[in-house]
Amino acid sequence: MSTTATDFDLAAVRADFPVLSQTVQDRPLVYLDSAATSQKPQVVLDAEIDFLTRANSAVHRGAHTLAGEATLLFEDARESVAGFVGARPEQLVWTSGATAALNLVAYSIGNATLGRGAPESARFALAPGDEIVTTEAEHHADLIPWQELAARTGATLRHIPIRDDGTLDLDAAARVITDRTRVVAFTHVSNVLGIVNPVAELVALAREMGALTVLDACQSVPHLPFDFTALGVDLAAFSGHKMLGPYGIGGLLGRPEVLDALPPFLTGGSMVTTVTLDEAGFLPAPQKFEAGTQPVSQAIGLAAATRYLSALGMDAVAAHERRLAERMLSGLRGIDGVRVIGDASGVDRVGIASFEVAGVHAHDVGQFLDDRGVAVRVGHHCAKPLHARFGLTASVRASASVFTTNDDVDVFLDAVSGVRPFFG
Ligand code: PLP
Repeated sequence: MSTTATDFDLAAVRADFPVLSQTVQDRPLVYLDSAATSQKPQVVLDAEIDFLTRANSAVHRGAHTLAGEATLLFEDARESVAGFVGARPEQLVWTSGATAALNLVAYSIGNATLGRGAPESARFALAPGDEIVTTEAEHHADLIPWQELAARTGATLRHIPIRDDGTLDLDAAARVITDRTRVVAFTHVSNVLGIVNPVAELVALAREMGALTVLDACQSVPHLPFDFTALGVDLAAFSGHKMLGPYGIGGLLGRPEVLDALPPFLTGGSMVTTVTLDEAGFLPAPQKFEAGTQPVSQAIGLAAATRYLSALGMDAVAAHERRLAERMLSGLRGIDGVRVIGDASGVDRVGIASFEVAGVHAHDVGQFLDDRGVAVRVGHHCAKPLHARFGLTASVRASASVFTTNDDVDVFLDAVSGVRPFFG
């Protein structure tokens, strides 16, 4: 097996992922769909099974031994995952994923607007004339919650444009973010373009205007060293199933004073101090945002995923995936009829490349590649406005992970070069 020159043993890494050993359409599986969901190493599967077979119990409330052990494991998981993303445990709210985390923030701001919450939450209240800024490259999960919030509060949505080469137009950002801006929500890395956005510059612009910053870190946390505190955003959302972890788990990270001030979104059991028939008092963050039974085995599995990634080293992971991105992009550029979306060179990237093949629908390309064992994503990747920006309704996306090899990329490129000759 030819591999990239990684700082970790790529053959050993591949052996950790049972799903990779299978064949698809009688070909070895080439899995290039990690931006949609990553594969999970055996240690993650084992961590969940071990918890469920040995210590499964409801956390926090039980007086029995298993409940105590489950609570310890659950809160240890919070500490591991928070540490992995550069936050303290009390800054990490478990959610079912990034979509849930972003909706939590938008609905919490909506509740602040209704006057729900402590007096300090009033600073988040929105009114007609206030503006919420996103970018043209957002996943629908970081767009529609803000559209809904704008509709509920009378605030206006504005967008920072993307340049033809896929980079964010920072000059325009400086014009779009004004003293009317109350929230700036943007993705760290677009799930279509794979380009790392200039977080520090956007945070500086937002902070100057006193706006809240919300980062969609779904496509950065799995692929880059991520330090929530150093990035300086107020809130960040990430997704477990994209970072070698289980489904049904993700997180919202928040600066302590922001989490303290935001009112709860979902309410119910496990997040209260006192309850009468008429009213309730809420626990401090993170518990005030964690109503109901929590995804305990998933949190424990996610902690195992972060330990796995830490052992590889996130600098090494980022370097590995950057090399793969360059290999994918330079290969795609050389194939007749292929247009890469967001073809900027000299920018920081993760291992994502999206493209169209002239005259062939993305779904046909996906089918053609699948026949050769290559799994890619086709469609709009939940980023319809970004596709419209590039005059497209659909594209093909290849995305890498820690286990992706040069051979994977070469098999993929060879298959793509066969698309136009096949379809004529
Ligand atoms: N944001 C981005 C950039 C994504 O790529 C995705 C998943 O595709 C999401 C948000 C939604 O994440 P989740 O599946 O955890 O809800």
